[in-house]
Amino acid sequence: MVELLCLGEPMLEFNQQPDGRFLMGHGGDTSNCAIAAARSGASVGVVTALGQDAFGDSFLALWEENGVDADLVKRRADGHTGVYFVTHGPEGHAFSYLRAGSAASRTEPSDLPLAAIRNARCLHLSGITLAISTSSCDAAFAAIQTAREAEVAISFDTNLRLKLWPLARARAVIGAAIGMCDIALPGLDDARQLTGLTAPEAIVDYYLAAGARIVALTLGAEGTLVATPGRVERIAAFPVQAVDATAAGDTFDGAFLAEWLRDGDPFAAARYANAAAALSTQGYGAVAPMPRRATIETFLAEAAP
Ligand code: ADP
Repeated sequence: MVELLCLGEPMLEFNQQPDGRFLMGHGGDTSNCAIAAARSGASVGVVTALGQDAFGDSFLALWEENGVDADLVKRRADGHTGVYFVTHGPEGHAFSYLRAGSAASRTEPSDLPLAAIRNARCLHLSGITLAISTSSCDAAFAAIQTAREAEVAISFDTNLRLKLWPLARARAVIGAAIGMCDIALPGLDDARQLTGLTAPEAIVDYYLAAGARIVALTLGAEGTLVATPGRVERIAAFPVQAVDATAAGDTFDGAFLAEWLRDGDPFAAARYANAAAALSTQGYGAVAPMPRRATIETFLAEAAP
């Protein structure tokens, strides 16, 4: 039985190198989270759809290599595997997406593996899962409803992408979803835009009042503010030479959920996840630098208490 299910769109990444060539990698927030969780020893599976193409095959190989269960993944003939490009110019890096009509964006409520959701301990999804299409949004809400009825914990990362939808719609839809979730894992920039609040303490209070029983607000190099009803604590980040923060938030999510499922203490899980995310910023790309549990535990043992 898979304990953690991640619902969302995996995407092939083509990242431009200094010589102009594109390096292929794997991305997609919920796939990244699943891989990070698996590397921390969680029993984890992905719920999504891939095209019947070589990119889809490469995701199946990636998940297999990493011990992520892909038995619930559909291969669709009517949509391709999602792709995005990262290009680098004078104003920093730019993202270009080829995802309209993709296999995952065609997911509908009737595609959901309801029994597997009911049998999991935690369902994780994100604002991107809601944003990519109306049918994916409907499926996400149906999955949330199924998980709630079965008392499966629901984890949600805001992952606001204003290329996918306008802020007003994102606020309304993410606000509705997060009110049905148990674990809120927003990033500070997202949360400020979504709530209109500035202070991290006010933001975690807002999400607790909305119904979350655990909030872990990530603050980049400032660490994480973790809140449960009755306790709020900032968990410090680990000082590292960060070269690329791509997927630091996804690595945080996966490591946090793996450790929370193992141990049940969200504050300890945030310290563990801060270490995992810090380590992931020391290498380039989303998946390659995600650390495994043994590396994270050694790093924690060597870090100041
Ligand atoms: P998001 O990209 O989702 O907004 P953050 O930037 O808040 O995510 O980063 C997520 C987590 O990654 C942070 O809570 C922290 O633990 C870790 N992290 C990010 N940047 C750094 C950094 N420069 N040094 C150390 N840890 C970092």
